[in-house]
Amino acid sequence: MANAGLVDLGEQILLFDTMYPPQAARSLRDAALHLFGRPISLVINSHFHLDHVGGNQVFADLPILSTVTTRNLMLERTQQFLSFAKANPGYPAILQKAIEEESDESKREELTLQLGDILAMDAALAELVPVPASMTFGGLFTFHGSQRTAALIPMGNGHSACDTVLYLPDDQVLFAADLLFAHNHPSIKDGNVPEWLRILGKMDSYPAQVIIPGHGPVSDQQAILDLHDYFTHLLHTAKQTETTEREAADSLESLPMPKQFETWSLPDQYTANLQHLVRLQQLS
Ligand SMILES: [Zn+2]
Repeated sequence: MANAGLVDLGEQILLFDTMYPPQAARSLRDAALHLFGRPISLVINSHFHLDHVGGNQVFADLPILSTVTTRNLMLERTQQFLSFAKANPGYPAILQKAIEEESDESKREELTLQLGDILAMDAALAELVPVPASMTFGGLFTFHGSQRTAALIPMGNGHSACDTVLYLPDDQVLFAADLLFAHNHPSIKDGNVPEWLRILGKMDSYPAQVIIPGHGPVSDQQAILDLHDYFTHLLHTAKQTETTEREAADSLESLPMPKQFETWSLPDQYTANLQHLVRLQQLS
């Protein structure tokens, strides 16, 4: 489950990410009324992943704002997924069987990730309607409310092709979306880890006391440093792996996880992330 944010600007209530499935988005709509006595008036999509935009249809009557890249990818990937899942209703079972029969660990990991996406999609497939952003922006976008200022900042292609964060300078609060996984092994399959590292290094230009990650508990700057350490370690370990794909998969499987990451959620993602980086290295 991804995190979302509600921000009271005074005149407007912003929603940062709509979650998935649509039922969760309806709960967000109710939560705003309960918290502020006023409805959400503007919606923001941080990036295109379904667990952050899968509730958009609940806000189809409101302006939805994202970058052009996020809008295009949201539409393209969600429609692809929907068409595929509808045309292949038995696919989760077929994929499950393929995972059990696959002897190559790295391929098995990749199929398992695909299965997770398909099953998540499946849960609300019947009611899911892709609703893309109705407004797009390209650079810094600032809301000047009577209660507070909020700045939308596109950070580049770290976790996805385009990730946007929301910074509240009056409160020193940063909604980091999936550029920050706190105490969770991150998903890097659509990302660019060297670029992600550079973005994490830039995040201290926003002196946030409270940082809300895309996944994991409400955090602070330490979570950014921890993820920076994680990627530095991951890149270093992947670079040391100079073998064939099969051998690399086997040797990575037996590598012990550094102690500091052992308590993070989704531990299987550690080897999958290393294998992904090694594959990219072999392709380059
Ligand atoms: Zn994501």
